[in-house]
Amino acid sequence: MAPSYDVIVVGLGGMGSAAAYHLAARGQRVLGLERFGPAHNLGSSHGGSRIYRQAYFEDPAYVPLLLRSHELWEKLAVDSGHEVFTETGGLMIGREDSLAFAGTLSSAQQWGLDHEVLGAADIRRRFPTFNPAAEDVGFYERKAGVARPEATVTAHLNLAREHGAELHFAEMVLAWEADGPGGKAWVVTDRGTYTADRLVIAPGAWAPKLLSGLGMSVTVERQVMYWFQPEGGTGPFTPDRHPVYIWEDPDGTQIYGFPSLDGPDGGAKVAFFRKGVPSDPDTLDREVHPEETAAITEYLRPRIPTLPGRFLKAAACMYSNTPDEHFVLAQHPEHPQVTVACGFSGHGFKFVPVVGEILADLATEGTTEHPIALFDPRRVRV
Ligand SMILES: Cc1cc2nc3c(=O)[nH]c(=O)nc-3n(C[C@H](O)[C@H](O)[C@H](O)COP(=O)(O)OP(=O)(O)OC[C@H]3O[C@@H](n4cnc5c(N)ncnc54)[C@H](O)[C@@H]3O)c2cc1C
Repeated sequence: MAPSYDVIVVGLGGMGSAAAYHLAARGQRVLGLERFGPAHNLGSSHGGSRIYRQAYFEDPAYVPLLLRSHELWEKLAVDSGHEVFTETGGLMIGREDSLAFAGTLSSAQQWGLDHEVLGAADIRRRFPTFNPAAEDVGFYERKAGVARPEATVTAHLNLAREHGAELHFAEMVLAWEADGPGGKAWVVTDRGTYTADRLVIAPGAWAPKLLSGLGMSVTVERQVMYWFQPEGGTGPFTPDRHPVYIWEDPDGTQIYGFPSLDGPDGGAKVAFFRKGVPSDPDTLDREVHPEETAAITEYLRPRIPTLPGRFLKAAACMYSNTPDEHFVLAQHPEHPQVTVACGFSGHGFKFVPVVGEILADLATEGTTEHPIALFDPRRVRV
């Protein structure tokens, strides 16, 4: 007979590890299944840093989730003893009508979030690494900061295990199945078959393979992150002096970046926000090519002149984009005992703790008090 659990979590990356923790902490008998190792670098949750911010240009509907996420980041830091989150402040730069500036400002005003609006001269004075155009403006938010993806996944996995979860690594899920409403669910892996009352499926970039029956279009994109040693040293780039940032050009191109987080030799990370190439996660080009590094170096020179001092390293990662770039976070439309989390569209990590809580709510109660109407997979059926 197949071993039986209350809940099986498929995929122990950012979202799945958080779900495994919240479920186990609620006393559920949890099995977690992950095809790679713990906190690996082959999916979407690696590279040392992710931006957290509260005023949200993507849609003000995310703000209550971000506020809850902040509480849970703080709790996770205490419970795990890991440095999972650092407040650095965050700066959005762009023209007055840019999405990064105007969208962020309107979301802050709608929710009464603390912020400052800076002119180009204020930006140069307070944050001298930036060289904005005279027409650029800045939105500054003190509560923004850096989430640490590998430390977060490790913290959630450790806490899940401490609460009794059974976690299997290097075990690949080949298929899953669910009976009618109220019935059991099965998972078949390359090592065996398991059964549970409920499933949580959080496969990241493998959603097009494991969740094809959702009828959702999720497109996987290769995205590159770059680390540079700033010219003149990391002094002005230390996290006590330098915010996380998103900078939008009049043509809509956005770059984002971080302070120098890992000591004087670690460099500062920067990337284009949405300049990706459609890819398959099983054949992803993980090599970063010299012409890609040259392109971002050239882009940075006029904007953050001292940042591209010396190129240190680069890494490929994946976005899983839905057509409207909003998440998929819901009960499976055809199988109420299956909860799905995918399509985080390059902006999901800051929500990891609250997504874990929502997945645990949906899997145990069938409902959640968190506002997730925006993430219903039926909105974008193709
Ligand atoms: C370069 C880059 C920069 C980003 N920057 C930010 C940022 O600044 N702020 C922000 O909020 N977000 C950011 N994001 C987005 C964020 O990191 C992702 O939304 C988030 O990590 C997605 O988590 P996930 O759990 O869906 O995917 P993952 O963490 O990849 O987890 C999915 C897991 O499922 C496993 N899996 C898949 N198929 C199977 C199978 N068949 N059997 C077993 N296991 C399986 C995978 O191995 C993987 O571990 C960024 C992403 C990238 C790539």
